[in-house]
Amino acid sequence: MRKILIVGAGHSGLHLAHGLLSHGYDVTVITGQSSQEIRTGRPSVTQVTFPTALDYERELHLDFWSTQAPRVDEFKMHLYPSGSPPMSIKGRTGTEGRFTVSIDRRIKMADWLEYFEDSGGKVVIHGVTVTDLDYFSRMFDLIVVAVGHGELGALFDQDTSRFSGARPRVVAQANLYDVLPDPGEGPNIGWTASSADAGNAFLVPFLASDGPCHSLFLGDRTGGAMDAWPDRPSPDEQWRRMQELLQKYAPDYYERVSGASLVDGNSTLIEHFTPQVRNPVGVLPSGGLVLGIADVVITMDPFVGQGWNHSTRCARSYLQSIVEHGDRPFDEEFLSGAFERFWEYGLPVQQWAEMNSTLWDEELPEHFQEMLDAAATYPEVADRWVQGWDYPPDYAQWLYDPDLARAYLAEVAAAHNGQQ
Ligand SMILES: Cc1cc2nc3c(=O)[nH]c(=O)nc-3n(C[C@H](O)[C@H](O)[C@H](O)COP(=O)(O)OP(=O)(O)OC[C@H]3O[C@@H](n4cnc5c(N)ncnc54)[C@H](O)[C@@H]3O)c2cc1C
Repeated sequence: MRKILIVGAGHSGLHLAHGLLSHGYDVTVITGQSSQEIRTGRPSVTQVTFPTALDYERELHLDFWSTQAPRVDEFKMHLYPSGSPPMSIKGRTGTEGRFTVSIDRRIKMADWLEYFEDSGGKVVIHGVTVTDLDYFSRMFDLIVVAVGHGELGALFDQDTSRFSGARPRVVAQANLYDVLPDPGEGPNIGWTASSADAGNAFLVPFLASDGPCHSLFLGDRTGGAMDAWPDRPSPDEQWRRMQELLQKYAPDYYERVSGASLVDGNSTLIEHFTPQVRNPVGVLPSGGLVLGIADVVITMDPFVGQGWNHSTRCARSYLQSIVEHGDRPFDEEFLSGAFERFWEYGLPVQQWAEMNSTLWDEELPEHFQEMLDAAATYPEVADRWVQGWDYPPDYAQWLYDPDLARAYLAEVAAAHNGQQ
């Protein structure tokens, strides 16, 4: 039986670990925190599980919470151009009753880790060093490094040939009770905003350990208007400043959260990071090779809310590559090839992230403006826009290129005219 070591019990590591276990591999997960420590630890950046990622979790019997979590079946997207009136569109997150959920990572990872052990997986709680990895490389057929933004990521060099637009970002987040509903909408609508003057915001119905609430996320470039945390304020002070920022830059959001309160004293975070792509193959001092996965290799711009989606798809793609590889050695060709296979999906997502990250650097292109108008008129255009978050490569088919965009709009308009 092939022996595989996964370092890190985060989202990608545990998804892959469960997948490998279900295919009969001998899987060990070594991770820095026990499930109890994860459960009671610091919050993480809010994850959003779109319908296809949720399907992939269900394939491995990992969707434990959909019956309790708010079902986000619609998203409203607000655009705040500088000096002109705001625009908004609303679309469904999935077709035929498919929905999106957002669950506190602490619940999800702790439950997945315990379930992995209950299912026969081996778990060791230990903070792994490079020296440890060197030792383990003699005991396992394959080592996958899934430490997210942990220090072991330094084994993987930055690859500027895949992505060069590194922009330092800052994120402030708070989990909230008593957010007012969106007037005239269902209780579980998600909101997202992009502002020319002040970065991005998400306001998402969320499942925390004590039940449903909302998660509010403000992201901006380092030094931007939403970077108001140089002194690492207390949770209450952070929340006060977040409200102040919303009042100034996104008043619709302020209206909904001005009477809200923090879920508890451990429900805020501030994170700094720089989007980048790294080489997926790490070389150990002994010459042994390890494969990086998800955030170890790709730090996605938080403006596009794709971290979780990306991690699920990366884990699933690696699982397919490993299983199809059979008994052959996990050599450099295999490791690079596994990442290249995933990158066929990852590259268009990176391009979409790039489009969003630079949206306001110049005036919005004319065809983009036409598409926004059409999304306000034709529900299927708004739906396709929102459903693109589930599968961002679709945008290349209809949104970026003016000719493709106008051909799509003509098709939609013709279909509507035909119905009249
Ligand atoms: C900066 C940042 C931005 C994000 N942006 C988004 C976003 O835009 N949208 C979204 O949906 N989600 C986002 N997320 C959250 C999303 O949850 C992550 O993208 C996803 O969890 C990454 O999965 P992962 O498996 O790579 O790492 P993680 O889930 O972070 O797991 C890493 C694991 O490794 C363990 N570990 C670390 N170092 C060691 C060590 N030396 N030895 C042993 N174990 C170790 C940790 O304890 C942890 O269990 C973001 C997260 C971060 C931190």
